[in-house]
Amino acid sequence: MTWRKNQKLIVDPIACQAHGLCAELLPEMISLDDWGYPIVAPGVVPPQLSAHARRAVAACPTLALHLVPVSDGAHTPPINSGQKRIR
Ligand code: SF4
Repeated sequence: MTWRKNQKLIVDPIACQAHGLCAELLPEMISLDDWGYPIVAPGVVPPQLSAHARRAVAACPTLALHLVPVSDGAHTPPINSGQKRIR
């Protein structure tokens, strides 16, 4: 995977099984709650952490952690966030 500017981390809360590996690999941006589920820092991943972010994504055993592009001014909802679409 090539690194693109303005990417952020999101967690699929359905797929995540609280292994905590992501927080070990990227403690600068991911902490764990009392149940071991990740709390991801908001905003884009700084370039100096891009390699660590990619490694955390690749290491997630349930493929729950994702890097997604952030477009200017647009909101990217998390995967399976339960938000309803307005048609
Ligand atoms: S490594 Fe994956 S499954 Fe484990 S806590 Fe992080 S996102 Fe969840």
